Amino acid sequence: MSFATNLRCRECHREYPLTATHVCEFCFGPVEVTYDYDGIRKTVTRERIAAGPASLWRYKDFLPCGAATAIDIGAGFTPLIHAKNLGRALGLPNLYIKNDTVNPTWSFKDRVVAVASSRARELGYEKLACASTGNLANSVSAHAAAGGMEAVVFIPNDLEAGKVVGSSIYGPTLVKVRGNYDAVNRLCAELAGSYNWGFVNVNVRPYYSEGSKTLGFEVAEQLGWRAPDHCVVPIASGSLFVKIRKGFDELAKAGLIDAPKTRMSGAQATGCSPVATAWSEGSMNFRPQRPNTIAKSLAIGNPADGYYSLVQLRDTNGACAMVTDEEIVAGMKLLAETEGIFAETAGGVTVASVKQLAEQGRIDPGELTVAFITGAGFKTLEAVTGALKTPLEVDATVESFEAAYTALHAAEAAA
Ligand SMILES: *Cc1c(COP(=O)(O)O)cnc(C)c1O
Ligand SMILES: [Zn+2]
Repeated sequence: MSFATNLRCRECHREYPLTATHVCEFCFGPVEVTYDYDGIRKTVTRERIAAGPASLWRYKDFLPCGAATAIDIGAGFTPLIHAKNLGRALGLPNLYIKNDTVNPTWSFKDRVVAVASSRARELGYEKLACASTGNLANSVSAHAAAGGMEAVVFIPNDLEAGKVVGSSIYGPTLVKVRGNYDAVNRLCAELAGSYNWGFVNVNVRPYYSEGSKTLGFEVAEQLGWRAPDHCVVPIASGSLFVKIRKGFDELAKAGLIDAPKTRMSGAQATGCSPVATAWSEGSMNFRPQRPNTIAKSLAIGNPADGYYSLVQLRDTNGACAMVTDEEIVAGMKLLAETEGIFAETAGGVTVASVKQLAEQGRIDPGELTVAFITGAGFKTLEAVTGALKTPLEVDATVESFEAAYTALHAAEAAA
């Protein structure tokens, strides 16, 4: 049983039953799930949550599907670490990292898909589908496999090998579309009209986006039931960015934490920065952009939640950074070399953005700041292979090793 009550239009507030609808029939605004917060307040305690499973299903009372029948491959409840080394490098002693690289398919998308796939199955769908920049396709393929459903996943045809194999291994019908993500998304929106499939980020999108709230729940619980002062979050469609804050707000509504004052800051790649560009121009209307960046998982030129992201930046006194491909690679290396975490390009965007915002004085060193690292580096090896030290290659003899090792040190000393 769930406390979800309705879908409600974010613009005109008209309400709808909890079906597979994603836009308001009246004003075409996006709809989102609402809950019986009085019921939640009466039922849910910190202890009840703490006694739950070590996965996102510990927050089932805040999710729109039944946990007992969920497709559960272990998404969520990932580490939150105090990033002392990275923080020292950036002058931010209160910097934390939410490490979502360690989800079942190595990205935060397992959170949204856990919820969307479970709800789609409850609604009677036998096939799952999605329009993906890569990670979503991986996660939909895996959840469909575990849930005994068929998957048809659509991706742009220029994705990294790791993201392609990372879907194929689970046996979906993988469709490479000749075009960028925005073309893939348009195609899926058209197909959703005629195929009776659960497109997790089209007709089932209101349930999908609820999964992102669990990042907010977890961070607050892991900090000892308080919201952080500042979050830095990568923005693709903007859904994750908006929903992390909704997570803090719901915990406060349920009486589990104090009212959050969390500043929400965004991170984008310069090659796909519709939100960051609008923000830097002081505009609440972003212009769609044709993406050109190594951060392919964030390459959405026409973000569905772009407007709401700008509203949130404004309302929470946030900031929005944009970083170049070189800065992204440097960010990936810095995170790995300081904290031992190998993130994909989106993680490089986040770390480079934290660095930029700290240098601009937009993150105060006193603020408890959480950087969200959303995907693992083995999926985007292409991005860093040319930028790393070449290994020593030696014969299996002490002499050969010592010759190579001595030469290396001489070369390093000379450099
Ligand atoms: C999808 C994705 C995001 C952002 O997701 P949105 O909710 O669309 O903004 C961030 N990081 C990674 C690694 C992703 O795959
Ligand atoms: Zn409406």
